[in-house]
Amino acid sequence: MPAQIYLFPCLTDNYGVLVHDPQSGATAAIDAPEAATVEAALQKTGWKLSDILVTHHHADHTQGIAALKQKHRCRVVAPRGEAQRIANVDETVGEGDAVRVGGLGGTVLETPGHTAGHISYVFPADKLAFVGDTLFSIGCGRVIEGNPEMMWQSLLKLRALPDDTRFYCGHEYTDANIRFARSIEPDNTALAARADEVAKLRAAGKPTIPATIGAEKAANPFLRADVPDVAKSVGHAGSPAWKVFAEIRERKNRF
Ligand code: ZN
Ligand code: FE
Repeated sequence: MPAQIYLFPCLTDNYGVLVHDPQSGATAAIDAPEAATVEAALQKTGWKLSDILVTHHHADHTQGIAALKQKHRCRVVAPRGEAQRIANVDETVGEGDAVRVGGLGGTVLETPGHTAGHISYVFPADKLAFVGDTLFSIGCGRVIEGNPEMMWQSLLKLRALPDDTRFYCGHEYTDANIRFARSIEPDNTALAARADEVAKLRAAGKPTIPATIGAEKAANPFLRADVPDVAKSVGHAGSPAWKVFAEIRERKNRF
């Protein structure tokens, strides 16, 4: 049976996600931005929390863990590289490790850059990816603990997922990301189409995620640093892709 997903906004611009296996009843929260909002989501769905899958140590992804674990006795899975910075962890995981949520089979991709140990969770059979603050729709996370080359490699890993993979990220930043992306690729028609779609979604008060990897490849400048026209538009024709990426990221920081 396919996974069921419940997406909900929390804090200022974070997203929480529940992933539910209808067969076994298992339910994972992807990160725990805020215990009360996760509780409300559990109430609303009637699902019982069995696991928390943590992408990285930042407080806006972990501060709900303690209260949720206390109440639900759920298993907490976290990146091996950041286990010392996250309390209440039961299991640490790294590249290629299997993570099961009931009958749903996930695997871990290490996607460092935003933080040094950041991981993403991929569920190939359901074509789902939970990417934390590595990839956003039409954007990517700030490179805080890693370096641009590392972040570019992480984005390449996510870009290599099948085009019809739906990914869920940690924040609703799509509007601002589109404004920036248009400064890099003003003539990108896929980006213009995404801008229209996002304007409609936001006007209706709806989330802009999930997005698909295939659609992002066509419109997200941070996944397009190896496209010659993109390199040229930021004055880096002929440079290695990671340097083009670094320039785009730097421009976004100042945008
Ligand atoms: Zn973060
Ligand atoms: Fe975050």
